Parts: sequence; structure tokens; C-alpha cells
Amino acid sequence: MTVLVAPKALANHTARDFKMLIDGRWEAGEGQPIERVAPSHGVVVSRYPAGTSADAERAIAAARRAFDHGPWPRMTASERSGVILKAAQLISARAEELAYLDAIEAGKPITQVRGEIAGAVDIWRYAAALARDLHGESYNTLGDSTLGVVLREAIGVVSIITPWNFPFLIVSQKLPFALAAGCTTVVKPSELTSGSTLLLGEILEEAGLPKGAVNIVTGTGPAVGAVMTAHPEVDMVSFTGSTGVGKLTMTNAAQTLKKVSLELGGKNPQIVFPDADLDAFIDAAVFGAYFNAGECCNAGSRLILHKSIAEDVVRRVAALARDVKVGDPLDPSTQVGAIITPQHLDKITAYLDGAAGAGARIAHGGEPLDFGMGQFMAPTILDGVTPGMAVAREEVFGPVLSVLTFETTAEAIEIANSIDYGLSAGVWSRDFDTCLTIGRRVRAGTVWMNTFMDGASELPFGGTKQSGLGRELGRHAVEDYTETKTLNMHIGARTSWWMPKADKL
Ligand code: NAD
Repeated sequence: MTVLVAPKALANHTARDFKMLIDGRWEAGEGQPIERVAPSHGVVVSRYPAGTSADAERAIAAARRAFDHGPWPRMTASERSGVILKAAQLISARAEELAYLDAIEAGKPITQVRGEIAGAVDIWRYAAALARDLHGESYNTLGDSTLGVVLREAIGVVSIITPWNFPFLIVSQKLPFALAAGCTTVVKPSELTSGSTLLLGEILEEAGLPKGAVNIVTGTGPAVGAVMTAHPEVDMVSFTGSTGVGKLTMTNAAQTLKKVSLELGGKNPQIVFPDADLDAFIDAAVFGAYFNAGECCNAGSRLILHKSIAEDVVRRVAALARDVKVGDPLDPSTQVGAIITPQHLDKITAYLDGAAGAGARIAHGGEPLDFGMGQFMAPTILDGVTPGMAVAREEVFGPVLSVLTFETTAEAIEIANSIDYGLSAGVWSRDFDTCLTIGRRVRAGTVWMNTFMDGASELPFGGTKQSGLGRELGRHAVEDYTETKTLNMHIGARTSWWMPKADKL
């Protein structure tokens, strides 16, 4: 059983028509707009312009002009910081509007999205602080007539491409840091959840961002994103999404040697030892697997349990999973919302069929939930999963927890590291050595010890292996959007040019 929160019909709802932002103008685009059907309610809630490759090219040209000739890169750090801080205040003031858009377009619980918007505000504030601390280095070790200065300069025009699962939070992990560095940008949100990013465009205008510094082009990946990753006037691509499109992004960017930052998929293990605080863990297991309906790069979707506790843990996780409230994202009691599209629900159920065929057992859930509108999935536990199965290796991206077992620490590490992903991991034990061994030997960008999915603006986040390239957040987040330039200066006329004689070495 699952606690069902049936969606209430959207009373008097009219779909919202959005425009995209190119060179300081709001444009409706040509042709039929993209209609977004709410995944929870099955009705059109938003329409976004269907941007074209020509729109993407105009946006890139605008960002280029704004970078080469506009005021944004030439302002003082204090002025840029002020605009970013003002944006943080305006985001906070419009938090409820932003939260509603992400909840209804992505099917996410409204209470959860409020937390995401609050987190985003903190990130914008953090970026505003970092904007004032961007600095290079100088060397006084090169001899008294020579000075070496290493500048940190904005890298230029940055393409920012984001996925549908955390629409406002993810653009906030990129854009304020690119702006803090003095870059100009073209942003493409997912064609499934563009509303809150377009609202951010309004906020940035009101905060005083000059025209062309941020352009927002809506549309599909092949129409808009492909241009943004390949165009010679783009200097860097910051991409979050699937590993497949991440690889495509890198291939496109390679043609003109752009810098790329990639935040990609994950299939994250939680390794549990017999001495763990199981009460705390059971809670974290249910939250980690079903938060955001499992549509989360960080989902703790692989439980790797010591054999001696496996049966007990599966029973307790299943018992708690029964209490999870699934349904209407607009109901404040809901913990798990809708599945992003009907096609994605089909993909999740196909994984379950495949797992059952390969010998896994459904210990809980396993079925879509029918509310007569939208698409939903019961929190699901798959027991008896072995490391070779697709559900143990691939991103299901739904509320599906796969349970594997181990006997020795070495075996647990081997299972954890046996797949292509390496985004995050968790370890549960009261023994410090055990936690530290897992922390050091599991290949992941983040390892949580006796906790799960905690984060902070100060902590770098990103993946190893095929989970990505580079890190976001943390104190180096602005530097990621810069290049160094070396100024090598000489005081007075230099007289000796040839290399020192070998006998001097
Ligand atoms: P996706 O790769 O399908 O799409 C991501 C973005 O890329 C969208 O804006 C899409 O329109 C665009 N795109 C698609 N084809 C493109 C192309 N040919 N050229 C350029 N852009 C293109 O991913 P998704 O389904 O939106 O999101 C889910 C994926 O994102 C999951 O794999 C998830 O793990 C990953 N993700 C990773 C992180 C992280 O921080 N590591 C965070 C959130 C989501």
C-alpha cells in the first residue's frame, strides 16, 4: 500500500504564455509554442516559444556583443556583486510564484520546491560574496627586475543548458557564478520545465542586469542546444543532464576546443554495515530513493547491504515506504509527486519488467498509481538484485530502489565501483575506520557518512567517471568561469636574452 493524495482539479486555471529573452527583448518566437502538460493534472499549464537554431544564433551574437562591448564585464566587482545580491532579494520576494511553476510543470511537491528556492537564494547570495573575492596571483620570486602577475579573466560567452528535474535550483548553480566572473550567457532550460527560468529573466532585468548579458532561449535540444554547444562564438558550455547528451555536448564543443563543465547521471550506492544506526539509515534510505520521485541525479538508488542485516533492512525500508505520501504536488502533505512524462513512466516500468525477468523480486510497490489524471508511480523496492542487472547499473530515474548484498568490505567497494557512474555515495557504520575506508576508496564526487544528500553552497558538487567533469558550488565556483592570463613584466630595459649557459645550471 501507499498513502495516496489524489490531485485536486486545477480550479479556474489558465495556461500561462511565456516569451523568451534575446538581447533584452521578450519574444514570442515563430511557429506553434511548446505546450507543457502538468504531469500531475494532465492539463496544459504553460506554453513556451519553440526557439529555433536562428534564435540561438541571435542570442549567442547578443551575448558576444555584451561581452566584447557591453558594461557587464567592465563593471567593478562590487557593482556586479550588487546586481547578483539584488537578484537574490527578488528571487526571495517571488519565491512562491517560482515554487508554483516548478511544482506544476515538473510535478514536484510544493513544500519541497519551496526548500529548493530557499536553497537557490542562498546560492545567489554566496555568488554575490564570491564575486568580490575573485583574484589572481603575483610572484615576487622571479628576480627584482621582473614581476609575474596571473590575472583571472572572465572566460567569455557561456552556454548554460539545464534539465527538467530541478529547474530553478540547477540554473542557480551555474548562472550567478558565471555572472560573478563577468561572463555573458545564453541559457536553455529544459523544454519540459522552462517557466521558472523565464521568470528569472524578468528578475535579472529588474535587478539591473544590462541587456544581452543573459539571454534565455526556450526550445528543444536538437534545435537550440546543439547550436549552443557547437557555435564558435561560445567560449564555454556548462551542461547538466544525461550522460548521453553530455557526451554529445563534449563532442560538439571539441570542434572549437571550448571548455566544458558537465553534471551528468548517477546510480548512487548506499553501503550499510551491521553496526550502523539502522533507525537513522532506514529513514535516509526511503528519503534518498524516493525524494523527487527518484528523478534525481543524487538518488540513493542502490542499497548495498551487509548480508547479515539485509532481510531485516528490506522489511523495515518496505514498512516505511508504505507511509510515503504520493500524489498531488500542490498538496502540502505530499512527499512524492508525479512522473515527468507518460513516456518516462513507460521507461521505468520497462526497467521493472526487465529486472523481474532477470530474477529480482518486487518487495514493495512496482505499479503505476492511477488517479485518473497525470502519471504516478508507487515507491518500489527490488530485492535480490545482482551487480550485472540493468537496474543495478543504469539510471532508472524513478522511485525504484535496488537492493544488493555484500559480505566483505572489499566486496562492497567493488560493487559500488563496478558501474560507469560515480556521482555520490553513502556509507553507514559507527566505525570510523570503516567509514573512512569507504570514503577514500569509493569513486564518487561526494561521499556521505551516516547522512545522505546534505549539501551547502560552500561544498563543491560534481561527479567522477561518467557522472561528469568539473565541480559546481564551493569557493572555486566563480573561477570555473574564468581563464588565467599571465602578465610577465620587466622593470627597465632587459639586456640579456639568451638562455643561461649550461655551466650556470
Ligand atoms: P537530457 O540530457 O535529456 O536534457 C538536458 C538538457 O539538454 C535539456 O535542456 C535538453 O533540451 C538538452 N538537450 C537535449 N539534446 C541536446 C542536444 N543534442 N544538444 C544540446 N542540448 C540538448 O536530461 P534530462 O532528461 O533533462 O535530465 C535528466 C538527466 O539529468 C539525468 O541523467 C540526471 O541524472 C541528470 N542530472 C544530473 C545532475 C547533476 O548535477 N549531476 C543534476 C540533475 C540532473
